[in-house]
Amino acid sequence: VVSLGMPTRSVVTTCAYCGVGCSFKAEVQGSGDDTRVVRMTPWKDGGANEGHSCVKGRFAYGYAAHTDRQMEPMVRDSIDDPWRVVSWDEAIERVASGFRAVQERHGVGAIGGISSSRCTNEEVYVVQKMVRAAFGNNNVDTCARVCHSPTGYGLNHAFGTSAGTQDFASVEQCDVMLVIGANPTDAHPVFASRMKRRIREGAKVIVADPRRIDLVRGPHVEATYHLPVRPGTNVALVNAMAHVIVTEGLHDAAFVASRTEGAEGYLEFIARPEHSPEATEAETGIPAADLRAAARLYAGGPNSAIYYGLGVTEHSQGSTMVMGMANLALLTGNLGREGVGVNPMRGQNNVQGSCDMGSFPHELPGYRHVSRPEVRAIYESLWGVTIQPEPGLRIPNMFDSAIGGSFMGLYVQGEDIAQSDPDTHHVEAALRAMELVVVQDLFLNETARFAHVFLPGSSFLEKDGTFTNAERRINRVRPVMPSRVGKDEWQVACEIATAMGYPMSYEAPSQIMDEIAATTPTFAGVSFARLDAEGSMQWPVNDAAPHGTPTMHVGSFVRGLGQLTPTVYVPTTERANRRYPLVLTTGRILSQYNVGAQTRRTPNSTWHPEDVLEIHPSDAEMRGVSSGDVVELSSRVGTTRLTALVSDRMPAGVVYTTFHHPVTGANVVTTENSDWATNCPEYKVTAVQVQVVTEA
Ligand code: SF4
Repeated sequence: VVSLGMPTRSVVTTCAYCGVGCSFKAEVQGSGDDTRVVRMTPWKDGGANEGHSCVKGRFAYGYAAHTDRQMEPMVRDSIDDPWRVVSWDEAIERVASGFRAVQERHGVGAIGGISSSRCTNEEVYVVQKMVRAAFGNNNVDTCARVCHSPTGYGLNHAFGTSAGTQDFASVEQCDVMLVIGANPTDAHPVFASRMKRRIREGAKVIVADPRRIDLVRGPHVEATYHLPVRPGTNVALVNAMAHVIVTEGLHDAAFVASRTEGAEGYLEFIARPEHSPEATEAETGIPAADLRAAARLYAGGPNSAIYYGLGVTEHSQGSTMVMGMANLALLTGNLGREGVGVNPMRGQNNVQGSCDMGSFPHELPGYRHVSRPEVRAIYESLWGVTIQPEPGLRIPNMFDSAIGGSFMGLYVQGEDIAQSDPDTHHVEAALRAMELVVVQDLFLNETARFAHVFLPGSSFLEKDGTFTNAERRINRVRPVMPSRVGKDEWQVACEIATAMGYPMSYEAPSQIMDEIAATTPTFAGVSFARLDAEGSMQWPVNDAAPHGTPTMHVGSFVRGLGQLTPTVYVPTTERANRRYPLVLTTGRILSQYNVGAQTRRTPNSTWHPEDVLEIHPSDAEMRGVSSGDVVELSSRVGTTRLTALVSDRMPAGVVYTTFHHPVTGANVVTTENSDWATNCPEYKVTAVQVQVVTEA
């Protein structure tokens, strides 16, 4: 704890970084505009963290007070002009008249919005309402598009709802953890501590990941099996595990018979010899004997749980893989009780919530498709508008349409798409092509280079609302200080909508939550008053579960029966070749968070001052690369430079980097490939070459 003096009061609120959703006591001095955070102390009664935290959360207050924050609205006619500071009224009028002018020139569908998973449920809800009611279309998307959209698709398909099945506490009943494409010790550290505690008590771990992450062999833990799956072959892996379980008769026949549908076709499909570990060994890179043993361990449980991350979703078959993992759990009856389940490790603090709140172009709040007239009717009667029945544009469609000349105006809330989205040159070309780009953020980020209007955003310390974490836990976010920029983000969206001719206003965020509860069945019993009284609640919260639902799908699935689905493995087109013989995969490190806009402006920023390229010793030797050399990393779409780190954590043929720093810009090299169902980018597989530029 860095102490800056004695606090005079404290406010309990929620960390704004990862999907664990730790509760903190922000201890402060002063009041009003003179409020200063002295320290952040993990809150002992936090439902998700029980008094624990990681280094990111403890230092998070640093970026909120950073001098880089842009505190006033600004406009400019062209992106080559200097910015001009203006009043809020002038900025909002510029946004509203600009968007209307774009629609007059190019049509109602020529504008759209991207909501932020760092913002509160209430802020996200009003952004999707602004788009649907004031813009008059469904062109609203969220940064979940580039991370967990396949989770939404796959879990909804298999179980009937787009969320993890268990609470975090469930891990304490788990006997076997299957960790796929996730690195919890870096990305979800507080939950990782809980996992490690259970492992020390005797639970077994199977890690499926190309890298030898800490859960494979790290401080105080050692996995029973490490399956170093070749990037892009996850579906072949999960099918091979299911093949072993079915052909060796290890599945739970009673559960399959009573609680699933599609079994006949699926069991015939998965028993085919082409899915055996021996037949897929060359493709996945996993020794058949290890895979057989891992499948038997998972099937034997008795309580086996799957925990997965972006190493599952960010592939061209991300949605297929989510369904493949659901198949494993359904086959073995590992659902509907504690210690089991299929559990996405959500990356951002409110990515679950931003999806719940209807910020997808095809879904209204509560994952209800816009084509359903009875769902549209709820909002049409409440909002007094007609909602379009056709889905709007996804983020990649917005970029393509901008380059094609039909999508010309974009509002971006708290997402740095120019750094975080794949194929940076393509994103930049799309932003340059637009007639009006509006960025709302704490900082003049990379995307703001292409903006015509900049609206200052508020940090989590200034917000009043809720975040929903990876276990569906709705946590209160309480204002530690008043807005430092003069307006809350929900007010800004309301004022833009009003200036565009659709009057929209609320007295306070609690009133927005009341509207969410009145229109969204899973939130029916949620209110700020109840959250303040009970601490936090996990949705669904309704008459059937008045205090929330830690474990889902008990007795029956939300969709009735669980859906077994033949998951056909289709290799990605992105393969290593003679010109690009290595495969790049990306991830995160403990001390930094996503594009680093926040963590690079906190006291822990010096712990990871640059992105480095990890490379296996044999690949390094072949290229004359030593640790500390500056290397050129090139793919078929772009080139960047990084410092090399020779590491036997990598398998031969695979290189790895993080994407926390704009200077290295890892997404300059990632490609336009994406998940077949959701367009989630295939960040985890890029064919690359590495060459030394400067020796250390
Ligand atoms: Fe908790 Fe995640 Fe924040 Fe760390 S970054 S304190 S694990 S919510």
